[in-house]
Formats: sequence, C-alpha cells, structure tokens
Amino acid sequence: MAIRTVVWGENVHEHKNRTVAELYPRGMHQCIADALNADPAISATTATLQEAEHGLPAARLAQTDVLIWWGHAAHGDVRDDVVDRVADAVWGGMGLIVLHSGHFSKIFKKLMGAPCNLSWREAGERERLWLTSRNHPIAAGLPDHFELENEEMYGDPFGVPDPLETVFVSWFQGGEVFRSGLTYRRGAGNIFYFRPGHETYPTYHDANVQLVLRNSVKWAHNPAARIADPNAAPNRPVESALEPITARGGSLHVAGEEGFR
Ligand code: ZN
Repeated sequence: MAIRTVVWGENVHEHKNRTVAELYPRGMHQCIADALNADPAISATTATLQEAEHGLPAARLAQTDVLIWWGHAAHGDVRDDVVDRVADAVWGGMGLIVLHSGHFSKIFKKLMGAPCNLSWREAGERERLWLTSRNHPIAAGLPDHFELENEEMYGDPFGVPDPLETVFVSWFQGGEVFRSGLTYRRGAGNIFYFRPGHETYPTYHDANVQLVLRNSVKWAHNPAARIADPNAAPNRPVESALEPITARGGSLHVAGEEGFR
C-alpha cells in the first residue's frame, strides 16, 4: 500500500502576497503533494489551517503515515488541542516532516523542547546544500551538493537538540552555514527537519528538493501498528508483579490509583 501522506499548509501567504500566489497558484501544499504523488509509492493529500480542525481530525491522523508541516505567519492560530493530537500521533508512530519556517511551529517546538531559534535574512541569496551523510536514505540519488539560486538565509546556531543524524548542511552566499537536514525520533515517530522552502522563491519546484521530500516520506514512514495510547502510564499492582513481592515501606498512593498526571 502506498504511504498515506498529508501535506499540511498554512495557506496564508498564497492569498496575501502576489509573488507567492504566482509561484504557487494552487498553494505550496498542493505543489508539494503533486511532487510526492509523482512517486507511486506515495499517496499524498493536503490539509490547511482554514479547514475544520485544520484538516487534521483524529480519524484522519489515524489514517496518516506521514505528515508534512509548512507554516510561517500563523503559528499562533494553530489550535493547541490539534497540536497535542499531532504530537500523540507522532509518539504513536506517525512520521513528521517539518519544513523551513515550521521550525517555529507549535508542534516542532513541543517535540524538540527547545527554542528552535536561528538567524535569518531575506535577500534571495544562493544556498548550497552539502550532503553530510552519503548513504542516508533521505539523500538517495542526490549529488554531493546542489544549489538553490534564491533562498532565504537561515544561520546556525540553530536552537534545537542534537539530532540523531545530520543529512545536509547549507552554505549561504552571505557566509553563514546551517544544519539544514536533521533527523529525530520522538516516541515511535521519525521526524525530519528540512530547511529550504521560503515562500517567495520557487524552491518546491526544484527537482532535488522534490527528491529529498519523496525520500524523507519513505524514511519517516514507520510501518508498525500505531501505538494506541502513547501516554499510557499504568500502575502495576503488587499482586501482579512478575516475581512475588510484598509491599514495603511507606506509600503515597492507594492500591489501584491512577497517579498524578
Ligand atoms: Zn522563510
């Protein structure tokens, strides 16, 4: 079965900025979904901020193998209960790919537990991405380096935890460097952060970027059954311990109590 992928787009700049509307007449999310659907191993649909529950009701997340997230201007408008729901899905095994300005999204900051800050400059400068993990599945089929002629600069230090793997680093014309492809695991979920994708440049039309996106969906996909309740914290009673024991010492909780959350 094809990897069920949802491309979530904030879908704000496409309606407010002429440059963005011209580059992405059907929305950035649709451009990304089209690029993914070029591979028969992936089945991509879209969801946007404006839809009911931002297009991410629980039933849909339960049927989603990998979620891609692009947001920028409206991070604060994303409902906290939807963010919690997405985090639960990731902890349960759903893959998550966070793009570009999604570094400041509620979901990425929650999963990273860090400020996720960086330096930036919107000057249309050249970005050169260097592959730092040659045989990594996310880099399959890519040259050792490739360029995006116009991009926004993001500079390290990047306020994220040390990743599992660094797949790309970027050099910018102005001199900064940035760790632009990072993998994480949170609970049972695979997470990939990929830097390029400023909305006023044609980044998601780039063949190498599209290849990274397809590769990362395949990498992030966890085929194991979703963990039903990744937040479960059961109190195991003395009587059912695997080896016979008797309770000793003082006790805060009464038998069978759920405990504090
Ligand atoms: Zn940007």
